[in-house]
Amino acid sequence: MLSHQQPWAQPRVIYLGGFGRSGSTLLERMLGAVPGWVNVGELVDLPRSVQPDDEKCGCGEPFSTCPFWDKVGEQAFGGWQSAPVRRLAELRRTAARQRLVPSLLRLSRGGGSASLRRRVAEYQQGYGRIYQAVAEVSGATTIVDASKGPAHGLALGLDLTADGGVKADYRLTMVNLVRDPRGVAYSWSRRALDRPQAGSRSQMWSIGVGRSAAQWAALQTEVALINGLSGIPSARIRYEDLVAAPRPTLRRLLTTLGQGDEETALDHVADHAVTLAPSHGLSGNPGRFRHGTLDLVADDEWRHGLPAKERRLVTAVTLPWLHRYGYPSL
Ligand SMILES: [Zn+2]
Repeated sequence: MLSHQQPWAQPRVIYLGGFGRSGSTLLERMLGAVPGWVNVGELVDLPRSVQPDDEKCGCGEPFSTCPFWDKVGEQAFGGWQSAPVRRLAELRRTAARQRLVPSLLRLSRGGGSASLRRRVAEYQQGYGRIYQAVAEVSGATTIVDASKGPAHGLALGLDLTADGGVKADYRLTMVNLVRDPRGVAYSWSRRALDRPQAGSRSQMWSIGVGRSAAQWAALQTEVALINGLSGIPSARIRYEDLVAAPRPTLRRLLTTLGQGDEETALDHVADHAVTLAPSHGLSGNPGRFRHGTLDLVADDEWRHGLPAKERRLVTAVTLPWLHRYGYPSL
């Protein structure tokens, strides 16, 4: 049994919310290297794919043989091959999926369905056990979870105590990571080109760019609703600022998160580089395997790679958000 005097009695969770291809693995690892913090990758994938498929951990070991996750699983559930872990995968579908966002927001205002409330409470307790165990095994007090999906973050961050619910065993803050949607759309379209299937390449390109722009805009709407209505503390950071001026940008974020001014917090971050030890981040892009001193270079290939017509399409679809986040509309 954990004593409440221990520093991990109620870990803080920094939940990175945002769209894929926005640099979340980089941000997650830069934050995870702050003393007293630890990054865990996209934890949402642990019950649904990382554990069942024995995917590789950021340390290079398969999940089943990574000593860190082995200890965490033992501590949280007496091992990962247990019913509560399978139950979390199930609850992901019935308590934390995207189309439940309006229902989840009703819960945050004391209304909504009693059965959804019970499922969300169970989901929070399950993840609470993982977060508690991560804090205990790592010795960290702040956990960076790069799961990205707003609905999952909302389900985990909702305060259910107003209606007599159980308090979660962690405190969650949502950090919205945004990247210029034209860069995001270009990145996704490149992936489509890399894996050509049936149909002409130009058609795939066009569908990819339009669709990802629409999905990107829909996700920003969800995030704005959650930030405005859920009561979950939130902050925002732009990928472009992180890469162009990492120290001041992270310093601002840490101040917003109430981290104070300790000079050593960002010793691993230089003007154009970051030094990272191996971590145990799960899922996410292959950047999770890299360690040592890495150069920070803005991925802005879209500026010359994205054809004018596609660029105009993405700009038109995302225009209100470009203005809100301070991106040029040209
Ligand atoms: Zn590992």
